Amino acid sequence: MSELRIEGLRGGIEGREILKGVDLVVRSGEVHALMGRNGSGKSTLAHVITGRPGYHATAGRVLLDGVDLLGLPTWERARAGLFLVPQYPVEVPGVSLEAAFGAAGLSGPGLSGGMREAMEQEAARIGLSTALLDRSMNVDLSGGEKKRNETLQLSLLRPLFSLLDEIDSGLDVDALRAVGRRVSEGVKEWGMGVLAVTHYSRLLTVLVPDQIHVFSDGAIVRSGGPELAEELERSGYAAYSAQP
Ligand code: ADP
Ligand code: MG
Repeated sequence: MSELRIEGLRGGIEGREILKGVDLVVRSGEVHALMGRNGSGKSTLAHVITGRPGYHATAGRVLLDGVDLLGLPTWERARAGLFLVPQYPVEVPGVSLEAAFGAAGLSGPGLSGGMREAMEQEAARIGLSTALLDRSMNVDLSGGEKKRNETLQLSLLRPLFSLLDEIDSGLDVDALRAVGRRVSEGVKEWGMGVLAVTHYSRLLTVLVPDQIHVFSDGAIVRSGGPELAEELERSGYAAYSAQP
């Protein structure tokens, strides 16, 4: 059993505090959804946790099984078991997924049968054409294909904790179901813990959350069960923000 514990996290970008005290605990096998207005700081939270250049914490801790990740470079946070599906996946011209994984010397239970076989199996599970495996990473892929490509990486790496930043954006209904199901299976297969940023309750019918958190102006302002998603879909975020 592992635990990702975010305590009193403040931070953002140079000269601007965006996160204003985030407290959240995600344990193995749990799914937490984070919902909130555009610009409330959800992606910033994901970037500060993973250590994206340009983003930093000014106070608080992000503990993975007691180890504070904030002092570590991004690659060590990844090695510790953290994985981010970014809202806008990065294009890497000239580097295929297989080449990247090979160069990183990646190994693990998801890759035990060999890299290529594992990639093809996972691609089939999420409905990603194997022709895309040989192309430059995310280059000329549709929004939905990029998110599937990122999900494929997730399923090969089997992280302890995944941060999914709008993994459902750009996906058609079938792709959404396939991706949501694969992540959900990961929760059961290897006990992955998930923090999923989403605007839509549709994802949450496939990837069923244990808790939903409402994010507003850099902090969690309410937490509840899955029923909270329906309430938000009906009434919006007006009740949680000073903005109109
Ligand atoms: P969300 O993901 O909830 O829509 P973001 O975390 O992307 O919100 O953004 C929160 C606020 O911080 C926004 O006002 C956004 O413009 C600003 N912001 C985030 N990252 C940067 C950056 N790298 N440079 C300038 N402003 C940023
Ligand atoms: Mg965002």
